[in-house]
Amino acid sequence: MQKKVIVIGGGFAGLSAAAYLANKKYKVTLLEASPKLGGRTYSFLDKETNTVLDNGQHILMGCYSETLKFLSFIGAKENFHFQKRLEVNFVKEGFRVLPLKSFTFVYPFNLLIGLLKFKAISLSDRASLLKVFSKLPFLTSDKFSNMNIKEWLEKENQSQNVQDAFWKILAVGALNTNIEKASAKIFIDILKQIFLKGNKAATIVLPKYGLSESYCKNAEEFIVKNGGEIILSEPVEKLIISENQVTEIHSSEKVFLDFDFVISAIPAFALNRIIDDENIFVLPDFKYSSILNIHIWLKATKFPEDFFGLINSPLHWVFNKGTHLNIVISDANELVNKSDEDLIEMVKDEMKKFFLLDSELIIGYKIIKEKRATFIPSNDIIDKRPAQETQIKNLILAGDWVDTGLPSTIESAVKSGRAAAELIIGQISFITLPR
Ligand SMILES: Cc1cc2nc3c(=O)[nH]c(=O)nc-3n(C[C@H](O)[C@H](O)[C@H](O)COP(=O)(O)OP(=O)(O)OC[C@H]3O[C@@H](n4cnc5c(N)ncnc54)[C@H](O)[C@@H]3O)c2cc1C
Repeated sequence: MQKKVIVIGGGFAGLSAAAYLANKKYKVTLLEASPKLGGRTYSFLDKETNTVLDNGQHILMGCYSETLKFLSFIGAKENFHFQKRLEVNFVKEGFRVLPLKSFTFVYPFNLLIGLLKFKAISLSDRASLLKVFSKLPFLTSDKFSNMNIKEWLEKENQSQNVQDAFWKILAVGALNTNIEKASAKIFIDILKQIFLKGNKAATIVLPKYGLSESYCKNAEEFIVKNGGEIILSEPVEKLIISENQVTEIHSSEKVFLDFDFVISAIPAFALNRIIDDENIFVLPDFKYSSILNIHIWLKATKFPEDFFGLINSPLHWVFNKGTHLNIVISDANELVNKSDEDLIEMVKDEMKKFFLLDSELIIGYKIIKEKRATFIPSNDIIDKRPAQETQIKNLILAGDWVDTGLPSTIESAVKSGRAAAELIIGQISFITLPR
């Protein structure tokens, strides 16, 4: 008989779990609290400017193997733009553009030569950077689980300049956390994913359209075409657990009694709210980092490049969409409570310093604050991330925060979604794949 699965949450984790299960002929019902799919990764039409805006610019990388597989699976891969090889334009004050690109040589020499030619840092700093990269294949990340990234970089004799112009940008971009708080262990793991997995792994992948159009639409169509049902605006309010099984799911609209498995694909704080017995789980006390996306509109197009990384600025990335620029500030807990007026003044100052952009060219702005964008991957939390199987026989956890070994990213969410589906389908071996 067809098994029934209820998936709670329609972000990347819930959508991937639902899609993989629906494809295997499970009867899937996905319950999503908000009126739209996508979770922390969605877009909307800003009526004032008639522009489709993402809740935050999202960057995927060539090493996001689970995500790219999922996007292909639901027929959404064409909605993304893939770099042929790594190319990032960094900028210093005075609009000094310093590209970091890999070359046409054979991997890994193409990346190494790219680093050697990266003029944002001195030759001796480049040599010290290469030294770290040459050690990387031999590092066992577990040995660094008591160090933060800053301590590791100091141990590796990385100068302040190479920290500022390379490591901080990479770490804050990948972990949305500053180098004093983030674990060296998880950072070393992702450096291996980015730089040791072939030519494409370090390339940047960007959505061509708004995020919802780029993947939510395809995921929804795929699930429905395969017999699944998606119910929006229906928050789950309570899970009733009896004799180690979820027996009832209470949503805002009704009580669900007829299901074989439940996948929780909601954030940890949301799961805590719907399980009323605190003895069932003790979830880690995640702390979160904010991300600010500041959109500005210009009188005229200013740059030909797609995006820039800023060296030594509170603004981290600028994405160029013609007369519309999307400015990203990660690790923004200290800025998130500032007023819009203060933030836009800061943006105008920095854009002037870095891009020589006259503030009179700016004709409009919009600020989107995501306070709980990602959890902080500190050493005291990463080992407490829960496994996906739980002591409740028919309840499986998914979400970017479960123990995937990855930081709080789309890749972690998708990996957890597929693992949850595979646990139900019975291919438990998937879970033990090397990270
Ligand atoms: C501004 C911003 C920028 C980011 N940039 C990047 C990036 O560049 N690259 C990257 O890889 N990652 C990035 N991330 C992180 C990435 O968005 C997340 O890791 C990923 O989307 C998490 O997916 P998820 O499915 O685990 O959780 P979520 O997306 O949070 O989905 C959970 C879903 O559950 C729903 N829900 C909650 N409670 C209930 C309930 N009781 N009943 C029913 N439904 C419920 C929510 O409404 C939500 O739709 C960024 C995040 C933000 C906010």
